[in-house]
Amino acid sequence: MSDTESSIGSGQVADYIPDLVKADPKQFGFTIATVDGHVYSVGEAHTPFAIESISKVFALALVLSRKETPIWQRVGREPSGTPFNLLIELEAENGIPRNPYINPGAIVVADQLLHDTGNGLEALHALLRAETGAADLQVDSVTVESEEGAGDRNRAMAYLMASFGNMINPVHQALDHYFRQCSIAITCEQLAKAGLLVARDGLREDGSRLLHRADARQLVALMTTCGTYDAAGEFAYRIGLPCQSGVGGGILSIVPGKCSVVAWGPGLDAKGNSVAGAVALASFARTTGYSVF
Ligand code: GLU
Repeated sequence: MSDTESSIGSGQVADYIPDLVKADPKQFGFTIATVDGHVYSVGEAHTPFAIESISKVFALALVLSRKETPIWQRVGREPSGTPFNLLIELEAENGIPRNPYINPGAIVVADQLLHDTGNGLEALHALLRAETGAADLQVDSVTVESEEGAGDRNRAMAYLMASFGNMINPVHQALDHYFRQCSIAITCEQLAKAGLLVARDGLREDGSRLLHRADARQLVALMTTCGTYDAAGEFAYRIGLPCQSGVGGGILSIVPGKCSVVAWGPGLDAKGNSVAGAVALASFARTTGYSVF
């Protein structure tokens, strides 16, 4: 039995968001989508799961696509080395989150996107629909309810940032967008196709450019340093590829210029990253030699 097979079913499903508890930890899917149009999948690559924090990469891409965005005055670019929903640093650092992939950083990005577009969720949804080719991509209303019900810590972070003047929109509006963006139901195959936007250095599926190449590479740099929160060092050591994980059990990994890879298994480790997903990506990096280190 391979390392990946024996890791399937390990870990705990996220239980702080009640809707995620119903996922079966024995599920597993894996997709590789290459920049030259090939898609390879195994397992339950067509089963939808909550995108959760992986949505943060695409929301940031949309914000960075606007010229002269003020986002880097509102959020930093340093790994936090702490859990994705910790409040303490925010107070000490004047309401400026360490990076855009921890929750407070992503709430600032959602707030900026809402301000820039008038409807950040629709902008994100439209981008994902176009890049995946899935016209029926949905926000799961049961997940939204669950995110809202379990959202006090996110509310606390958003109000704290507002007290420092780092929210543009009313907190409840920005959070509404954030909760909904986390609740998009997506499959491994769809997410891997969407990730090609980043693997192609900012080029969209239709050939138009969303991001400058440098911005796309910076997005990937931040995935490497911040995308798996306080396990980013361990991920660099074990996998050596830029990764962004979500508590729905998905991990998106990018090999710039080559492919986008998604591993999904709902059983998480103590830091909120899919156990089987990380093992599968380590095996992928070893087999292909794609580790950047
Ligand atoms: N919706 C989740 C939250 O706000 C996202 C966390 C994650 O996927 O890491 O806590």
